Amino acid sequence: MSDLYQIIEPEFQKLVLANSQLERLWTGGRWCEGPAWFPAGKYVIWSDIPNNRTLRWDETSGSISEFERPAGYQNGHTVDNDGRLISCEHQGRCISRIEHDGTTTTLARTFEGKRFNSPNDVIVKSDNSVWFSDPTYGIDTEYEGDAAPSEIGASNVYRIDPDGSVTCVIKDLVQPNGLAFSPDERELYVVDSGITHDPNCVPKICSYTVDEGTNSLGTGRVISTTNDGHYDGFRVDAKGRIWTSAGDGIHCIAPDGTLLGKILIPEVVANLCFIGPKKNRLFVCATTSIYAIYVNATGLK
Ligand code: MG
Repeated sequence: MSDLYQIIEPEFQKLVLANSQLERLWTGGRWCEGPAWFPAGKYVIWSDIPNNRTLRWDETSGSISEFERPAGYQNGHTVDNDGRLISCEHQGRCISRIEHDGTTTTLARTFEGKRFNSPNDVIVKSDNSVWFSDPTYGIDTEYEGDAAPSEIGASNVYRIDPDGSVTCVIKDLVQPNGLAFSPDERELYVVDSGITHDPNCVPKICSYTVDEGTNSLGTGRVISTTNDGHYDGFRVDAKGRIWTSAGDGIHCIAPDGTLLGKILIPEVVANLCFIGPKKNRLFVCATTSIYAIYVNATGLK
């Protein structure tokens, strides 16, 4: 079709648009991450981590402005079920939330008395529980936060319940990173980007079954691996397909793990989200730039 798409399975031909263009909406960042779409306001908030700022893109005008600076070296974001911004803060080593009145609430800062490493990515389930990954990227160096030793001594995934209690839910990954639920919330998908610290750690997405009543997780199983850099942040569409960041662009993966195809992006992609009134446009955080492209798929969130 073009240099833009790599069709691996015939299904992917139907998920992309022959006349859709890859648009570069903005450039000038150092490491763009953590996009979150606010449907009510028609804007996206994302992070430029090494520059210690968050930015805002308005769909209505196309304008881009700084949202917060300094921003506590924020990384991943999501919008909760009440429309509030939830942030992973590398510097504060915490999960925070901006309330409707503009004040900030810290949702979790420690586990069993020890500070988190540097929360990386976050999602909210329909029952309002908040799930986040806690690798060490924000404490490894001074570049994306403040260098410090890990107090917990491991990189885990945690769940914050609405009563504020924190539970460690995944301990078997090297560097857990992006995460998302399947449309029915019966599966939790989590990226392991541990190749950054362990050359033997294959870049992968793991799937864990979620118990409907207790939110406890089953044993993880690998559903996808890649040799194209590593996976980082990703989103799931309404049909359960995974649209994930990778070293060469965006990979689209069926729920059973089959790689359907790729959208090739000129810079390494860290994260993405579905945006717009139809949630059929990808907003792509790719190293120094933001790209966007319409696809023939609808984002879950
Ligand atoms: Mg990430």
